[in-house]
Amino acid sequence: MTYDTIILGSSFSGSLLAWILAARGMRVLVVDRGRHPRFAIGESSTPAADLILANLAARHRLPELAPLARWGSWQARYPDLGCGKKRGFSYFHHRPGERFRDTPDHAASLLVAASATDAGSDTHWLRSDVDAFLCERSARAGAVVREGCEVVAIERQEHAWRVRFAAAIGDGVGPEEQASAPFLLDATGGGGASAAALGMKSLDDTLHTRCGALFGHFTGVGSWDRLQEAAGNRSTTSPFRSDDAAQHHCLDGGWMWILRFRDDLASVGVVQPTGVCQGWAAGGTGALEGVWRRFLATYPSLADLLSASRPVRPLGLIPRISRLWSRASGEGFAMLPTTAGFVDPLHSTGIAHALSGVERLADLLLAESFDEVGWEAYGAAVIDEVAWIDLLVSTCYAVLPDFDRFRLASTLFFLATVAAERGYGRGETTTSQGFLAARNAPLRAALSAARAELLGGEATAERLRDRLAPFDPVGLLDPAARHRFAHTAVDK
Ligand SMILES: Cc1cc2nc3c(=O)[nH]c(=O)nc-3n(C[C@H](O)[C@H](O)[C@H](O)COP(=O)(O)OP(=O)(O)OC[C@H]3O[C@@H](n4cnc5c(N)ncnc54)[C@H](O)[C@@H]3O)c2cc1C
Repeated sequence: MTYDTIILGSSFSGSLLAWILAARGMRVLVVDRGRHPRFAIGESSTPAADLILANLAARHRLPELAPLARWGSWQARYPDLGCGKKRGFSYFHHRPGERFRDTPDHAASLLVAASATDAGSDTHWLRSDVDAFLCERSARAGAVVREGCEVVAIERQEHAWRVRFAAAIGDGVGPEEQASAPFLLDATGGGGASAAALGMKSLDDTLHTRCGALFGHFTGVGSWDRLQEAAGNRSTTSPFRSDDAAQHHCLDGGWMWILRFRDDLASVGVVQPTGVCQGWAAGGTGALEGVWRRFLATYPSLADLLSASRPVRPLGLIPRISRLWSRASGEGFAMLPTTAGFVDPLHSTGIAHALSGVERLADLLLAESFDEVGWEAYGAAVIDEVAWIDLLVSTCYAVLPDFDRFRLASTLFFLATVAAERGYGRGETTTSQGFLAARNAPLRAALSAARAELLGGEATAERLRDRLAPFDPVGLLDPAARHRFAHTAVDK
């Protein structure tokens, strides 16, 4: 079995890359240990992801992909493909033992729009549906997809990669099969299927962010907007309803996400320091529902919100999320960005970063002549980008539970997203500007300096506003906005 490319992992990034390459005439093999449809976490998309998706659809002439770049076109074209509306990012500050309270000046909240209309809105992806859809499209385009297969060995032989794999049968595996190709792409996420064979070193301990998550899918999650309206607080519904957004409930040491899909289904997860999550893990999976209930009882407004909720599947726990390998590309191999490294769910970088890898690897693999320098540069850029995301995200955790400083730290992150989205809007690619504007040296220096001030306790909103004015085209540091932002860089 000889192919042009072997892709390990048939989740959305592996499948989308396989679809693009197969549609452009490459012989592609995809091997995954799982089978679609299956649960996957990582559901909240972003405007950057939408822009990359739209660009991929246009560049590779995939009209069936384009509708996924907007909530409105998704609903019109694929009404049965699970999706939630995400008008923006919302943050609410909770104190243990107290009900959530806001002020007319929004002292305890932050709402940042991702889009100006429902039709142009960003989305939450029901991954079991989306990943299966993309995998099926890759097969239709000609990719050979082998699900339910364990990778047994990966070897380098005369300018080609040879992969041996075997179908899982009951508790064992079936007869081994093998395939070879000049290119091996690892899209197995935390599975890191190729890391050992490629001699990767773990750089996990170089990352500042160290959190874990307890999560699940639930029915019966209450409406945060209605709960607050009933309590006389209208601060959650402007410039968009928070039920139509990614909700971040900021807590001591971490936060809770709530993302709504259709049919009363919601994704809910709690992020806490790794030490706390390791303690939760020690009780075994059977104890997780008890952990969940006890945790909720600490925050009365969240307990109210989730009082009628029921998990539709067993809760999942990942005690440590942040991870990073030493390389993301080399002789004939590359890792997708979120296989090379991933920091944390805070601010939703994973889907967009993974798609930016699809964008870059597709261009490199489909080029008329192979760009060896570009291939190496891709890997170095991805490792650097994970470190950049880590720098911005870890700042937010470092200042919790001080919500004023958390908002400032989040604003540093949003300034980077605004710069990146504007770049995409001008036709720049991730190769030219880096993910999250990582190659924008002046921006990066300014945000790194602001980070140091924030962590040193010297930063005030006024000081940051003056310092960062050249990088704040939408006024994210303007006090007159009172923590409500209806317009960001790429209004749709
Ligand atoms: C708790 C949590 C919450 C998150 N929330 C968000 C969010 O809200 N927004 C966001 O943008 N990102 C989020 N992320 C990140 C997001 O999950 C990832 O970016 C995304 O899943 C990456 O997709 P992928 O297609 O690259 O790989 P994955 O989704 O990780 O899929 C890997 C695939 O490889 C297969 N596989 C694994 N090991 C092997 C092996 N050895 N052999 C063969 N196949 C294998 C698996 O079966 C799977 O199909 C979150 C991550 C975590 C951990």
